Amino acid sequence: MAGTPQNPANTGQSRKPTSGVRYVRSVAVAGQTSTPGDPAANGAASGAGNPALSKRPPAVGARPLPSRAQSPAGGKRKRLGELLLEANVIDQDQLEHALKIHRQTGKQLGRVLVDTNLVEENELIKYLAVNLGVESVNLNDENLKIESDAVLLIQERQARRFNLIAFRLEDDKETLHVAMANPADVIAIDTIKSLTGKSVKVYIGSRIAIADAIDKHYAQQYSLDQMGEDLKSVDAELVEDMDDDLGLDNDAIDAASNAPVVKYVNATLMEAVKQRASDIHFEPFEREVAVRFRIDGALREVTAPPKRLMNAVVSRIKIISGLDIAERRLPQDGRCKLKLGDRVVDMRVSTLPVVHGEKVVMRILDKSATSMDIDSLGFDPMTLKEMKRVLQTPHGVIVLTGPTGSGKTTTLYSFLKHIYSPEINIVTVEDPVEYQLPGVNQVQVRANIGMTFAAALRSILRQDPDVVMIGEMRDQETLEIAVRAALTGHLVFSTIHTNTAVATVTRMADMGLARYMITSALICAISQRLIRMICPKCKEQYTPSEALQNQLAQSFRQPSVEIDLWRGKGCTFCNNSGYKGRLAVHEYMTMTPKLREMIIAQRPENELEEECQRNGQRTLRQSCFMKLLDGLTTVEEAVSLFYED
Ligand SMILES: [Zn+2]
Repeated sequence: MAGTPQNPANTGQSRKPTSGVRYVRSVAVAGQTSTPGDPAANGAASGAGNPALSKRPPAVGARPLPSRAQSPAGGKRKRLGELLLEANVIDQDQLEHALKIHRQTGKQLGRVLVDTNLVEENELIKYLAVNLGVESVNLNDENLKIESDAVLLIQERQARRFNLIAFRLEDDKETLHVAMANPADVIAIDTIKSLTGKSVKVYIGSRIAIADAIDKHYAQQYSLDQMGEDLKSVDAELVEDMDDDLGLDNDAIDAASNAPVVKYVNATLMEAVKQRASDIHFEPFEREVAVRFRIDGALREVTAPPKRLMNAVVSRIKIISGLDIAERRLPQDGRCKLKLGDRVVDMRVSTLPVVHGEKVVMRILDKSATSMDIDSLGFDPMTLKEMKRVLQTPHGVIVLTGPTGSGKTTTLYSFLKHIYSPEINIVTVEDPVEYQLPGVNQVQVRANIGMTFAAALRSILRQDPDVVMIGEMRDQETLEIAVRAALTGHLVFSTIHTNTAVATVTRMADMGLARYMITSALICAISQRLIRMICPKCKEQYTPSEALQNQLAQSFRQPSVEIDLWRGKGCTFCNNSGYKGRLAVHEYMTMTPKLREMIIAQRPENELEEECQRNGQRTLRQSCFMKLLDGLTTVEEAVSLFYED
């Protein structure tokens, strides 16, 4: 693709001619340049940079102005000045003064008038409205209802690009009322008409009020136009990874290198990282495309490209991930790197042919994401104390269990970080290396060249380690090497796929490990889940229905439950989900002489669990219930954990 597209239309701009230039052009057009017929030339853009909106807002909502004026081409500048003079808003000297600044600085007359406090922005808008023959609207007016039906007819991207927001639907929903900073922008109006299929009634509104309304009403949908600076560095980084020899399909490469496509992909990846998403899904359907971010474990839809651009978007992702863009019938796996300032974010990319195209999922491996502090993982004080004690053990196996996406790796990393000291040699073998830990030797599994967990582990053990972390024990060979390492004086951390802590024993036995080996090596098994936390900004207490009370009692095996329950109402801070962030809940089993006996005697899991509880350990269910009592999560979220059981 053209890494540094030069844009002749932009040469008059102060922006640097880098790859980002073309991308920010829409911003420039909206805010800084004048195009023919743009009322910015006579001041519509005057609000930019001036936070002071009218202290005396004109009448409620949208309203017609008393008189309309023709706006013959070429006569606008004079007419605005004349209008203001006639209305005694300014006098001749003030107009001369403003015109002089306008000529010297090239600033638009309207902006000069606002910047020099000669005219308030809302006042100016009224005259511009007359000047242009449109009505004005005050979006800040509390009595003006901004209808979200109307807002969402226009994509946020378009709204920002053209600096407009739809606020009302009338005439059987056939007429869309749109507030524009530049009501003379015929391209914008035509675009909105064809996108929505509605007729459009245009109002003039303050640029700042429109931008605020966009921020507010599109909530946290991502905004392409705010990413100018970052886009440049992203581009530079992604370009390096490109391989010119991929050029089998020139049309596809051309399409994928098209600036809006590149911009869209970059902006989407960046936004996903910004929102701390763990995955991005690009999903083609028959007529449209869905793009979803997984945030705090739940998928959330974000702005999608039009269906016709989907192939180009997929090709672009393939190019930056080193995949074959000509191969659309087979699944592929790749990787790419995104650089955001000092941060480097790795992404694993996988494509899958589906009925209506190719679905792409990108897993974000943000190496700087978490502080990974053992104290901030959500362990209750008693468990935390026990974990710190267990971590002092010089050798043995410590296992984290739980389904995929339950945060096991993060907890393992925080354990490693907790015990790290320059006197010990820590080596990890992982697939993939998700975070880079300072002072730790991390080995990436590469099964395709024979570097499996087991093979890597054998080599690692010849490297004189004190502590070994194995990403996952999924086969007998790996498990046996790990246990042998533990029995020969190493501290071994790993994960295993089971639901409960005590099930680790069964799983290890099923994988062919002798029970006496299990009891000698295993120090502690911890089962972990992540639950969503109630949004702190819209948290409210409520009285649950009887049905819910019963469900609660049943799920938590409490005879009668009378507790204060909380939930999130939904607000812009939490994207109306009512949740923000996640919290880990745990149960664990630490080996005791009594448990050793029971395991050797092949006692069933429920007896092992009871023994753990006699030792004062909580089950997952009980930990979850504690989070409910603390008002940190909802009943729905807590109960959903146990559907799997
Ligand atoms: Zn909220």
